[in-house]
Amino acid sequence: MKIATFSTQAYDKQFLNEFNTGHEISYLEVPLNEQTASLTNGFDAVCVFVNDLVNEVILDVLASNGVKLIVLRCAGFNNVDVKGAAERNITVVRVPAYSPEAVAEHAMALILTLNRKTHKAYNRIREGNFSLEKLMGFNLHERKVAVIGTGAIGKAFCMILKGFGCKIAAYDVKPDESLKELGVNYGTLEETLAEADIVSLHCPLLESTHHLINTETLKLFKPGAMLINTSRGGLVKTGDVIEALKSGLLGALGLDVYEQEASLFFRDFSEDVIQDDQIARLISFPNVLITSHQGFFTREAMEQIAVTSFKNIDAFVNGDELVNRVE
Ligand code: NAD
Repeated sequence: MKIATFSTQAYDKQFLNEFNTGHEISYLEVPLNEQTASLTNGFDAVCVFVNDLVNEVILDVLASNGVKLIVLRCAGFNNVDVKGAAERNITVVRVPAYSPEAVAEHAMALILTLNRKTHKAYNRIREGNFSLEKLMGFNLHERKVAVIGTGAIGKAFCMILKGFGCKIAAYDVKPDESLKELGVNYGTLEETLAEADIVSLHCPLLESTHHLINTETLKLFKPGAMLINTSRGGLVKTGDVIEALKSGLLGALGLDVYEQEASLFFRDFSEDVIQDDQIARLISFPNVLITSHQGFFTREAMEQIAVTSFKNIDAFVNGDELVNRVE
């Protein structure tokens, strides 16, 4: 198959080349959007990532260019108009669970860093400042953590929390029986958010979860609680969270995803003036830690993404059952 891969980084190329099962791949650094969709002319498939856009306008271009397959090299598919693709006879496949532990471990890394301030200690020590002032954290042992969404990643995160001796409250539209047996306490969203010292989001971005965290739901939070989002930026209404940080209602915020990340993440703007005022404000808080959508970024996960993407492509070519089809 001739495949156009969008938003390519050097590491994508490395892993896709290593596990390619014989397809002709063109690597494009640009994201897929309305300006770049015409580049798909002559390709059978496109391979896209989290911030590539596949809306109706783009689908029309893909269809008229003869593209038959959209290969998502990620789990989330909120950026793809799946119904629109089906209407144009374009198949969508994804990598549903490549390494849930990679993202779950990153969520814990954000918590530990925000809590024990190791990033600040690192900088202080390098400047010869050995003071402990303002570095005090809290024990995670016996603390209550709310896990919103207990699918593959949420479940892996619960296992990590268990190891730390945390109390786990969870909310999911489909509770996991095996987690109940482990002592995870399911409740309504309201019950789960209330009294938690840390809230961590692991549900997908859907119409029903868009801006799940907003001024109203933030009122349910325990004052000073920590919020962690490693799922999708659109789960959090950024302006409301900024207000909650300013008032002190929110004690700390760890983000691996950001609503407007498509125009920022995965690129170097270190010599530019950041035009996004909300991220600039977030960066200014001492109790906010932002990473650039790197939760997935481990060797194991990259291998799994490449292997599963080629299995999906081969199954499509051979007319086999598409176990990772998105419909
Ligand atoms: P999953 O499908 O295994 O689990 C999602 C869970 O959310 C399911 O249990 C589902 O029942 C639940 N859910 C659905 N609607 C809900 C709602 N309204 N309220 C509460 N729970 C709801 O998915 P996963 O593999 O665990 O991934 C979760 C999300 O993590 C993905 O959708 C993706 O957006 C994000 N993700 C981020 C990264 C990263 O690098 N930061 C990497 C992979 C995935």
